[in-house]
Amino acid sequence: MDSLVDKVAVVTGSGRGIGRSIAEALLHAGAKVVISDINEELTRQTASELNGSGGRVLGVPCNVTNTESIETLLATVSKSWERIDILVNNAGITRDSLFMRMSEDQWQAVIDTNLTSAFKVTKPILKLMSKQRYGRIVNIASTTGIHGNFGQANYASAKAGLIGLTKTIALEYASRGITCNAVAPGFIDTQMTRALGEEIINKFVERIPMGRMGLPDDIAAAVVFFAGQAAYVTGQVLEVNGGLYT
Ligand code: NAP
Repeated sequence: MDSLVDKVAVVTGSGRGIGRSIAEALLHAGAKVVISDINEELTRQTASELNGSGGRVLGVPCNVTNTESIETLLATVSKSWERIDILVNNAGITRDSLFMRMSEDQWQAVIDTNLTSAFKVTKPILKLMSKQRYGRIVNIASTTGIHGNFGQANYASAKAGLIGLTKTIALEYASRGITCNAVAPGFIDTQMTRALGEEIINKFVERIPMGRMGLPDDIAAAVVFFAGQAAYVTGQVLEVNGGLYT
């Protein structure tokens, strides 16, 4: 079991929602955390709210679809901390539509933000982790990437791709002390799902065996497991879904 004390963690899309909860949980477990979101104001605000005793939280805005923005993130982190031990690829969006009505823009935006982003962010950080001969990468996928979902062909494809990326990085980097796993959340209470409206939310909840939406903290607990205790676990996908396996 690895201690998370003083490990350096980068969490993308961590201004709010699941990403923010992951950052808080890693911080609570003793890590130093980089809060990073496309929204600059939210990045600063969340970083200052979490900073508490000071010195353990860095807020650096980053658009994960933009290579220059990622380079700036990494350059800024390296001025404060010399290593990156944990990467959580969490940033994601939805642009839902039934397949026949889905525009190319809706398709591409979701693939860029949920899948290509992980390729772009992970590559330079893996270089660093390889030199360190240590790293923990956790990708936030979705049950939709495993089972599919009406109106989410773009999102399901991106998340399925992220799972493929997870398993391949796990194989290619196991010998260098780097693990790569994925958490696949079910239906979690965040701004992303609140946008669906009460009627649709209630219909989903009726189908969840545990009878409730998941909380961002439920996902954070799984990430902390992969980042800390799961030293001999790699290439895995953990569904955190209240028992809803469809
Ligand atoms: P959320 O509340 O919408 O938070 C996502 C955060 O990512 C937002 O602050 C968003 O900023 C940011 N973001 C969007 N595009 C970005 C970009 N290009 N670069 C950097 N940051 C960006 O969503 P969430 O529910 O916490 O979702 C977090 C992750 O969990 C996503 O990967 C999502 O697909 C996955 N997930 C969520 C659920 C669920 O039920 N909530 C289920 C399965 C998987 P803006 O708002 O400014 O765009």
